[in-house]
Amino acid sequence: MKNKTEVVIVGIGLAALATAARLYELGKRDIAIYTESYGGTPYIAAINFVLPENPYGDTPEQYFKDMMNAGYQLNDAALVKEMTDNTLNGYELLKRWGVKFAKNEDGSTKLRHVSGHTFPRSLCCTTELIGVEIVETMVKALKEKGIKIVMDAQCVNLLSDGKKVYGVTIKTEDGLSNVYADNVVAAWGGVGNLFGKSTYPQDIKGNTLAIAHNAGAKLVDIEFLEYEPMVVLSPEGAVGEPCPTAMLGEGAHLLNTDGERFMLKVRPEGEAGSPKTLINKEIWKQVDAGKGTEHRGAWVDLRHISRDVLKAYPWFFDRLMDNGVDPNLELVEVGPMAHSFSGGIWVDGNYESSLEGFFAVGEACGGVHGACRCAGNAASQATLSGLLCAEGVNKLSRNNNGIEASIDYKVDEEVFNKYVPKVRELAVDALGIYRKGELLKAALTELQNIEAQDDLKNDTEASQIVESVRLMVQAALTREESRGTHMRIDFPESSDEFKRKIIL
Ligand SMILES: Cc1cc2nc3c(=O)[nH]c(=O)nc-3n(C[C@H](O)[C@H](O)[C@H](O)COP(=O)(O)OP(=O)(O)OC[C@H]3O[C@@H](n4cnc5c(N)ncnc54)[C@H](O)[C@@H]3O)c2cc1C
Repeated sequence: MKNKTEVVIVGIGLAALATAARLYELGKRDIAIYTESYGGTPYIAAINFVLPENPYGDTPEQYFKDMMNAGYQLNDAALVKEMTDNTLNGYELLKRWGVKFAKNEDGSTKLRHVSGHTFPRSLCCTTELIGVEIVETMVKALKEKGIKIVMDAQCVNLLSDGKKVYGVTIKTEDGLSNVYADNVVAAWGGVGNLFGKSTYPQDIKGNTLAIAHNAGAKLVDIEFLEYEPMVVLSPEGAVGEPCPTAMLGEGAHLLNTDGERFMLKVRPEGEAGSPKTLINKEIWKQVDAGKGTEHRGAWVDLRHISRDVLKAYPWFFDRLMDNGVDPNLELVEVGPMAHSFSGGIWVDGNYESSLEGFFAVGEACGGVHGACRCAGNAASQATLSGLLCAEGVNKLSRNNNGIEASIDYKVDEEVFNKYVPKVRELAVDALGIYRKGELLKAALTELQNIEAQDDLKNDTEASQIVESVRLMVQAALTREESRGTHMRIDFPESSDEFKRKIIL
């Protein structure tokens, strides 16, 4: 069979890198990575692992409890247990492939305290973003081992018979081609660019939700979109840069326009370690009460934090300084922005989806974080899901049995421009930080009307974007409660009566 590979991985973010690295260690050599670019990974500042030498008495059991609490107990407990039990294996995998983490002066690993965690367990790099260190080190090492990496290659479709996936359609500047595989691993990240402003880079288009669903894969938890609470809202040149929640652990305060530390009303012990959902809600309340900043946010006060500490977050510090804001002299305007996705493709303990031979890792899969994820845990989950998926692929030995298919993909720029901007607006309105039944219903009707238009079929990517947003709206409408990041104005806080997964 022409153009067949044992394992095709779509994407080259952390989840893909961990999958490929572990597959290589397990003896697999016929691996090909197809990717648009590097996704959210180069922006990762914090990654959590429980290390045996930690001075806090931290344990994988405590980590498990923290994840379940942050996730409002809606997480898939078996996936969380496997992830937290293997935390050290994830750390060691990255170290074996050359990733270096920041150390304290005494030689111990530097651990930061980020939101949602009982103990400091967030590892970092203090000279650049740890995500940059991971990409540079691991891509180089994988290339040296001879792993095939095709950049600027977009997966536009999965080849599926509804029960099994046997390849992908790839678009490059040379055109479209089908690549057949025994195993396809979706490591294509989240959904950020279905929305207007977000912290995501441009290569995360979000149409991948529909690509998986159309192939027949089940999706889970897709109503849960994370808003990063402290993203810079001004000046223009720094908009979209997250102020790390680890800054709260360094002593940062949040202030409303009356100068009040409003978080203390709900968290008298201080801002450090607050769950992101709580920070989001409290900022929103200040905006609602007319005490928000010009761009609907709050102020973060970093003025009293030592310059050396601020400089240990160089990407953040430099971006502010380059845009004329000295955080030791001025308050910084921050607020919530769409940032990462807790839902995605439903997977089992091998990270295989409901379709045979189709696996999903990192932000592409759902179920681990439940209704809200702990800070720094997207990176840990990307590492661990990659490691465990590679072991699943190795164990299951799937075979595509030589099935082939024709290419099915259409492009019509006019159709794209006719529908996609409107659909992105609908996504922002209906799937914001606070959601309303009426708005969701109206958005669903409008999206269904768009889906019924004949010309939509003339642009595959546009129809995938419309479907992806419609699926998220449908899930958000179905969850008639407020839980975690899904806050429904028309329904109260969650009670156990509503505790169930929404699977589409
Ligand atoms: C600004 C920012 C800061 C963040 N900070 C942190 C942090 O400090 N800690 C943390 O835990 N998380 C953080 N996150 C979230 C984190 O970056 C992601 O959750 C993480 O990168 C997910 O890893 P991944 O490998 O699953 O996906 P990604 O790193 O997003 O990689 C996805 C890959 O798939 C490729 N791709 C996408 N679609 C296609 C397609 N159709 N065809 C081919 N290739 C495709 C992309 O080009 C990319 O290579 C941050 C995110 C952002 C945007």
